[in-house]
Amino acid sequence: MTYDDVFRGAVEQLHSEKRYRVFADLERRAGDFPHATWHAPEGARDVVVWCSNDYLGMGQHPKVLAALTETAMKVGAGAGGTRNIAGNNHPLVLLEQELADLHGKEAGLVFTSGYVSNEASISTIARLLPNCVILSDALNHASMIAGVRGSGCERRIWQHNDLEDLERLLIEAGDRHKLIAFESVYSMDGDISPISAICDLADKYGAMTYLDEVHAVGLYGPRGAGIAERDGVMDRLTVIEGTLAKGFGVIGGYVTASKPIIDAIRCYAPGFIFTTAIPPAIAAAARASVAHLKTSQVERDRHHRQTAETKFALASIGLPVMPSETHIVPVLVGCPEKAKQATDMLLTQHGIYIQPINYPTVPRGTERLRISPSPFHDDALIRELTQALDAVWRALDLPRRYEALAAE
Ligand code: PMP
Repeated sequence: MTYDDVFRGAVEQLHSEKRYRVFADLERRAGDFPHATWHAPEGARDVVVWCSNDYLGMGQHPKVLAALTETAMKVGAGAGGTRNIAGNNHPLVLLEQELADLHGKEAGLVFTSGYVSNEASISTIARLLPNCVILSDALNHASMIAGVRGSGCERRIWQHNDLEDLERLLIEAGDRHKLIAFESVYSMDGDISPISAICDLADKYGAMTYLDEVHAVGLYGPRGAGIAERDGVMDRLTVIEGTLAKGFGVIGGYVTASKPIIDAIRCYAPGFIFTTAIPPAIAAAARASVAHLKTSQVERDRHHRQTAETKFALASIGLPVMPSETHIVPVLVGCPEKAKQATDMLLTQHGIYIQPINYPTVPRGTERLRISPSPFHDDALIRELTQALDAVWRALDLPRRYEALAAE
């Protein structure tokens, strides 16, 4: 057996489970979100993207594009090094101040992605806390799990959003240092964690809190700081983490916290120290996006309205829309093969791009289409989506009505 055979075999396994992913060759068009060009094998075609995490279309916003291009023309393309060597640059410093202000914290620190910010920060915080036990929600993102594992500390998993289970583990941890790691919006089901009640438990048992607001920043709260801002509890959280890649539409991740915590991560986290800083133009674009969404409610209001419209339209034709408290609209298929067939048909027959969500991202048997409306998905596009899904559901004889299915 050659090395190649080993890797071919591993991928073969995914084919046999109908989980092999194919990326569509898409080209976004500035100013035309959510329309894109699909470079199909038989030629270029127009499609509508219904699964983007550029939730508000900020990646196309004129202020963001202006900041990006103007800064690039002024200072060049790359950062020129790690933050510790030559990569620290003024737009990045300003961005960190903007983010600290957004979350009402003393300091902020930017990483190359949200994934890296979680991995680097959680592992470093827990490693620096002597005799630390990490209490991690069962549905935490892979990047948080990587941070938990990387810390080498003991980890205890609490059942998803289950306060009793969390309290049980806090009691068991006794007088050890404790770090509670969780998210505000869980991105596959669209549910929200009880942040305030978790902070109550953290206070009662003397634990630190680390909140991932990746799917909420830009989208919730009067200044777009996320669910903790919406709930008025930002000051009760020790660390708030976010991304610049989703609601803010650019790239990069960050943490905000007290000065001593941010300084320690800056000094000790390999994922921060040993990698090139994000380009200044990217930092300027992200800052323009954050600053805009601190004052503008237009995008958030329209996003919430179009999400409600989409949920209503899909549910009204009996599609199994899973219960979601947020902007994420998951539609249950329950089989990886059918999910793939459904998305292939949507793309090739209806010009609608949605990727299927399979195991291990979601549990087997709950494969789904994860639909993410934006302010730019107008009523006509919602009608087209509804008709297309109706046709696909008929053609593949897919199940309808989530409540009935969930009860089975
Ligand atoms: N946290 C959560 C909950 C996520 O879903 C993701 C990515 N989907 C990340 C962190 C990583 O963020 P980024 O895409 O900026 O790396």
